[in-house]
Amino acid sequence: MSLHIPFDNSYARLPPHFHTRINPKPVRTPQLLRFNTALAEELGITPGPEDELAEVFSGNRVPGGAIPLAQAYAGHQFGGFNPALGDGRANLLGEVVDSNGQRRDIQLKGSGPTPYSRMGDGRAWMGPVLREYVISEAMHALGVPTTRALAAVATGEPVYREQGALPGAVLTRVAASHIRVGTFQYFAARRDTDALQTLCDHVLQRHYPQAEGPEGLLRAVAQRQAELVARWLSVGFIHGVMNTDNTAISGETIDYGPCAFLDTYHPQTVFSSIDAQGRYAYDNQINVITWNLAQLATSLVPLMPDQEAAIASFTEIVHAVPGIADAEWLRLFGAKIGLAAATEADRGLIDDLLTLMAEGRADFTNTFRNLASAQARDQFLDPARFDPWQARWQARVAQETGWQARMDAANPAFIPRNHRIEQMINAAVAGDMAPFERLLDVLSHPYQDQPEAHDLMRPPEPSEVVQQTFCGT
Ligand code: AMP
Ligand code: MG
Repeated sequence: MSLHIPFDNSYARLPPHFHTRINPKPVRTPQLLRFNTALAEELGITPGPEDELAEVFSGNRVPGGAIPLAQAYAGHQFGGFNPALGDGRANLLGEVVDSNGQRRDIQLKGSGPTPYSRMGDGRAWMGPVLREYVISEAMHALGVPTTRALAAVATGEPVYREQGALPGAVLTRVAASHIRVGTFQYFAARRDTDALQTLCDHVLQRHYPQAEGPEGLLRAVAQRQAELVARWLSVGFIHGVMNTDNTAISGETIDYGPCAFLDTYHPQTVFSSIDAQGRYAYDNQINVITWNLAQLATSLVPLMPDQEAAIASFTEIVHAVPGIADAEWLRLFGAKIGLAAATEADRGLIDDLLTLMAEGRADFTNTFRNLASAQARDQFLDPARFDPWQARWQARVAQETGWQARMDAANPAFIPRNHRIEQMINAAVAGDMAPFERLLDVLSHPYQDQPEAHDLMRPPEPSEVVQQTFCGT
């Protein structure tokens, strides 16, 4: 049987200035690194033989029904507005309606230059491609809304980065859509109200059929994004580059550039080499998403008949975001310490643990996973300082039923630790895909104890600690 993708391309039907039709640029010797068979099935894709998958998911052959295009968008990058970004190295092949009736984008990333490439080469190297593959699939298994990875293909061509010549690769990304806050900003910056209205209608129909008009859209996106960021915090995730062009209207996590998970807990942790101010630090993510949603609100105002009234109501919606995120935070962190419905009275217990963890340089994931055992105590530089807290917690959790199962379902045993990702990439570049396969496998059941994988729970040795992550992907 040969590959079949049941495309139905709604974005391509939007007006021509929403995108540029362009085919992926062929590569020398495509070689399939990984294909996500389970996801393909969910998408209604009939997989073909391996060489055909390599041809199609490298961009060498455009599959039947695809209408490849690069999307136009703008965005605030580290607070500075760029009115013309767009897909500089991605091609949307098209959309399918999945087995749940959800429309999903299928996009190649690293598939060659487009009119939006500016100074870039339109390519990606194997490291970030495999990194995104593993981390996005892990996030999905952790229960965090995210784009998915359908395929990774090595191109057989070098990509030149600061480190020198690196092996090129193409990732196939699946998303509810690739529409971003920056897509709205693109048309708002051009004062193109007709396009804004078209985009608003498209998004409402596609993502928020229950919502009404620009105000309903803003409210719905604000809710999803606030919940998303609370989920990130609950698993120790730092996105690293929360620019408005990397904030999806669907509420999925998108763009795994310099992202990283916490090992030792510290609220101000930053990994990205270019985030000198800590704008996208772990504990600043609720502030940043609120700021990004304010940019969405600003872009939507021109659609409102009474703009002054709109500014007042939109401001209220944006100002409510930290409260929504914080309520979700309390619920999620409550569950992490075993509470079915944490209330404000429990906040101090959670905050005090986090303070102890920061001071005691405790491992975020292992402390929560092992709270009930001596292993948690051992996470702290001075274990004795943990004891009074543990006594308080034991008294509180004694009032709950089923707390142990609740904690096991809220506290992953396995996260994609930065040093393991680095080791996996080094192995893959040397031709050994076994660590990649193993990480994918173990991380597909992150809440399950897997004794044969306990080495993947271990925090990095001092020599293994990844200090910085890079955008130069
Ligand atoms: P990102 O930081 O990955 O979200 O990318 C920001 C912008 O830079 C987007 O418009 C990307 O398409 C573009 N971009 C990133 N890397 C490349 C590249 N290697 N070639 C062309 N454009 C790129
Ligand atoms: Mg981006």
